[in-house]
Amino acid sequence: MNLKEMRLDKKDLRMIKETERILKGQSCPFCSSEKVAQIRWGLPMFSQGMEQLLAQGKVVLGGCVLDEADDQDMQCLDCEKTFEFHKPKQSR
Ligand SMILES: [Zn+2]
Repeated sequence: MNLKEMRLDKKDLRMIKETERILKGQSCPFCSSEKVAQIRWGLPMFSQGMEQLLAQGKVVLGGCVLDEADDQDMQCLDCEKTFEFHKPKQSR
């Protein structure tokens, strides 16, 4: 399936943009890889946008955790360690 042929609605596009914004400037504190994904806890809303993020490795599913679920957990795709989101250093 060609990802470009997927039809994305506004909500999907916004979610993709938001995820890319979160991933921007993130790198693994263990191996310095920039191939990191955002961990989505619980059951995500499956949509074309979510499928695309999963296919591109921008989002990984963290499973159903009711306690201490944090939207801003990240996972390195190279060493598979998880780490907390850290604010990229940039001026406002
Ligand atoms: Zn790593």
